[in-house]
Amino acid sequence: MARVLAITNQKGGVGKTTTAVNLSASLAATRQRVLLIDLDPQGNATTGSGIEKRTLEKTVYQVLLGETDIASARVRSESGNYDALPANRELAGAEIELITFEQRETRLKSALAPVLDEYDFILIDCPPALNLLTLNGLCAARAVLIPMQCEYYALEGLSDLVQTVKKVRANLNPQLEIEGLLRTMYDPRNSLAQQVSAQLQQHFGDKVYRTVIPRNVRLAEAPSHGLPVLVFDKNSKGAQAYLALAGEMLNRIAAEA
Ligand code: ATP
Ligand code: MG
Repeated sequence: MARVLAITNQKGGVGKTTTAVNLSASLAATRQRVLLIDLDPQGNATTGSGIEKRTLEKTVYQVLLGETDIASARVRSESGNYDALPANRELAGAEIELITFEQRETRLKSALAPVLDEYDFILIDCPPALNLLTLNGLCAARAVLIPMQCEYYALEGLSDLVQTVKKVRANLNPQLEIEGLLRTMYDPRNSLAQQVSAQLQQHFGDKVYRTVIPRNVRLAEAPSHGLPVLVFDKNSKGAQAYLALAGEMLNRIAAEA
């Protein structure tokens, strides 16, 4: 059965989508069966997977509304070697339309049930907000993977997120855990980044991945070609870092078993 992970941080621009796309491709490169769910109306994970979002007839939006199922709406990312449940602008409307639905927080969880056995990993790229879409991600997931930049305000934002995870655990999804914290866009020469990083390890210990994602321009360039960095520039520091992250995750899981 798939491990379902929500990649989330209510702070914008911290590397959620970059992580979702490149971790999906890196896990797929190690022969894991991966489904990437784009839960953001910006549709960046869709574009970054090489999928043209404007021409899609079925997306995660129709899935959440119960108009179609995941098996019919998913598309293959040929460049990334994984399946994707795409999103586009339409998804912005779901926030309001779902309000009248029953069990509106668990729509994605219910939709995922029939395909759980088809995958080893299901990664959910959440939008930069603690809204109903993100709640659907948190209810469908077994754990959250939190990408963060080691900046001054990062720890403050993190405590809000940890509170949210606790609330969701208490009210909606008792199994929800923190899978790991990922330091992104990391510059080891920046002393503030070093300080925040040290604090992070003090507070969260082993939950902080040892793998660090460096700032690397190839990671920023790859999405405009619709390619994971692994295909765009396999030898770049960014590609190597995401491969290392996939390896670290798989090792952790093997150690648990
Ligand atoms: P949003 O909150 O808007 O969904 P996000 O958290 O998904 O944003 P990304 O879109 O992954 O963040 O990244 C924000 C920007 O930073 C993008 O332009 C991306 O290409 C760039 N970026 C992400 N990670 C790195 C990195 N390690 N090195 C250089 N650029 C990066
Ligand atoms: Mg994003």
